[in-house]
Amino acid sequence: MGKLHGVVIALKDVISYKAHKLSAGSKILENFTAIYDATVVEKLLAEDAIIIGRNNCDEFAMGSTNENSAYGNVLNALDPDRVPGGSSGGSAVAVQAGLCMVSLGSDTGGSVRQPADFCGILGLKPTYGRVSRYGLIAYASSFDQIGIFGRNVPDITLVLEVIAGGDNYDSTAASHALPLPNRSALEPEKERKFRIAYFRDAFTHEGLDPMIAEQFTGFFECLRRDGHTVEGVDFEYLDYIVPAYYVLTTAEASSNLSRFDGVKYGHRTADPGVDLTSFYKRTRSEGFGAEVKRRILLGTFVLSAGYYDAYFTKAQQVRKILVDRTALLFNDFDIIILPTAPTTAFPIGEKIDDPIAMYLADIYTVYANLTGIPGISIPLFHHSNGMPFGVQAMTNRFNELSLLQFSHLMMQQYKSYENPYLM
Ligand code: GLN
Repeated sequence: MGKLHGVVIALKDVISYKAHKLSAGSKILENFTAIYDATVVEKLLAEDAIIIGRNNCDEFAMGSTNENSAYGNVLNALDPDRVPGGSSGGSAVAVQAGLCMVSLGSDTGGSVRQPADFCGILGLKPTYGRVSRYGLIAYASSFDQIGIFGRNVPDITLVLEVIAGGDNYDSTAASHALPLPNRSALEPEKERKFRIAYFRDAFTHEGLDPMIAEQFTGFFECLRRDGHTVEGVDFEYLDYIVPAYYVLTTAEASSNLSRFDGVKYGHRTADPGVDLTSFYKRTRSEGFGAEVKRRILLGTFVLSAGYYDAYFTKAQQVRKILVDRTALLFNDFDIIILPTAPTTAFPIGEKIDDPIAMYLADIYTVYANLTGIPGISIPLFHHSNGMPFGVQAMTNRFNELSLLQFSHLMMQQYKSYENPYLM
């Protein structure tokens, strides 16, 4: 039997599964049928996994609530008036509601960790380059990484073990990376004491729900009591990470999404007009939704002559500073902890008309994508409003071993939230 014999898995609608529909939540790919398997799909099938279906998501993985899908909202199974998070909302709810054991999503700026947080499950974004992106519909190629939703750490560890590794079809997939934990490596570390850092400013940030902040204070006390080191550090770049993320990802998206032109595949306008330019304009105007258009325009703007240096180059400089500062932090610490999101899952419709507010809510997750480090949302707590929320932990690049060992320990020792669907 394969390692995933009998394991029921679902895929976000951005991962190619040969001879199955693949739409990226977009009208421009309505009824498109995948013509090859993503590397992750090949690897899952080779280990006898059962792929049961395709999960709705924000269009081209752009969004934080799943409200940007051309195929309708995904509802949070714990409260159907609230969003499930995004962009991998369907993959999160499929695991949350017990429809499958694990699911795959993609995480460019938090799209696995944040919906996991909103739904009360685990969500792992591996190191950039840990998992091949071949067959993943690209949003921002230097940020995108396939991630895993699950109910417990051993399940996530097993799936990571199966899908990780180098790939001749993705030159950014690392083959000589540090070893991955296998499930037996999760246990013996119980005695290990972790050196943990948190960004002081992140916990006094005005957008952070006070009850989340308060529970983190208590959590840090518990960790210290149990012998771990927990230290607040100054991280002066917090206000720059969301702008840098949205400049760089929209730039990459504007380039990646230029391939959807209605010529070779996908939606094609019924009314092509008089020339090729009007054909492209009409096809793309009809096929893309509002958020995708906003990002293509923004990305095109920041790359245009005259603005390139002011925005794109500047954002790349910010990214480099973040990478360097992060490498220094990991000389002194094993783990960085942040909230996953500033609030719990909010009501459908609350933020959809305010893109800036929506973008700012990505403040805690985009950091890991800008720096390439792995991150996980661990569903430990719940709020007085009844909704769950998680602890986000991050380690140095290719150190998923420590990250999963730490997460396993946290799930065993500090979990006070139980998902009613999974009891
Ligand atoms: N919410 C973020 C965005 O809208 C993250 C998306 C993602 O990770 N795919 O860009």
